[in-house]
Amino acid sequence: MKIVKIDTGILEVPLKKPFITALRTVEKMENIIVRIQTDNGLKGYGEAPPTAAITGDTRGAITGAIHEVLKPLLMGKDLSDFSSVLDLVQKGIVRNTSAKAALECALYDLRAQQLKLPLYRLLNGADRELETDVTISVNEPQEMAEDSLRAVGEGFRILKIKVGKDIVKDLDRLKEIRKAVGNEIPLRLDANQGWERKEAVTAIKLLEREGFNLDFVEQPLKAWDLKGMKEIRNQVSTTIVADESLFSPGDALRIIEEEAADMMNIKLMKCGGISQAVKIATLAEVKGMKCMVGCMLESKLAVTAAAHVALSSPVITKIDLDSPLLGSEDPIRGGISYNKNKITLPTGYGLGIEAIDGVKWHEGDHS
Ligand code: MG
Repeated sequence: MKIVKIDTGILEVPLKKPFITALRTVEKMENIIVRIQTDNGLKGYGEAPPTAAITGDTRGAITGAIHEVLKPLLMGKDLSDFSSVLDLVQKGIVRNTSAKAALECALYDLRAQQLKLPLYRLLNGADRELETDVTISVNEPQEMAEDSLRAVGEGFRILKIKVGKDIVKDLDRLKEIRKAVGNEIPLRLDANQGWERKEAVTAIKLLEREGFNLDFVEQPLKAWDLKGMKEIRNQVSTTIVADESLFSPGDALRIIEEEAADMMNIKLMKCGGISQAVKIATLAEVKGMKCMVGCMLESKLAVTAAAHVALSSPVITKIDLDSPLLGSEDPIRGGISYNKNKITLPTGYGLGIEAIDGVKWHEGDHS
């Protein structure tokens, strides 16, 4: 089964409301879609959002990496020699993790279709129920409290609260949210690198003393500051999760060896695709660490891939895959389905994507 065509296009999905974190404000998804076709008529799909503030990848960089470098390596290759094909993606270019993730997604989709398996079965995954949290953007405390209350009313049982813009105000935000939703709903805090060491320790200890029912605190400090993250971890009892500090399996090894975090947040767009996500989960399993699977501002296409990955390992115990729900429309037919906070995987072969509405395919001969 040989690769005969690789196309890219853009998929735009307006968000219900702006997505605001300590790093950025986004009004709509404008993601690159990848479609790979084989000589026996199969199609595989992948997706990459341009998350310049985190991965450094722009739309131009993603399509450039694909069309200028990786596509020429992949054209004509036989997917039966799957590990060699994945190797071409991983070794063909450094960094560019979003482009690699999109290509790998389409390749795994095809490989699983070829073997007549749902993707998670190809990844040795077992069926289980996935429960996602829902993200609350950083806004004024009252607005965040209203957003939180609405989310709980919609059936979400875990809230992921974006903080990190100003720690004093963050505490006000959390108090308003707690007042609105009560104490039963666990809160996941994501500071997106926006806090400083000492103030983070003080704030987390305060929240612990006041019984805030924190599920975890994610990425309190700058991505490079593993030593600082370890210091925080040693001084609080709350679970500390590494997100922007973790891109590659090499980063995972460093976080594990330096005991810098309690958990790692695996995202396909940071690690460079499914093969690398599986490696990180394997490292975590060997070292007795748990992982979460998260996403960027991805449509149901890439999030379906992330959900398949989430089933691949028992160490993946937390799920943060709500981004398709932040969109005002769902252009993906097939893929995962949501019932409030519960995610069900598609039953078909491969990724389980049937069609994508509204992709603007790039013009020109991309075959
Ligand atoms: Mg995060």
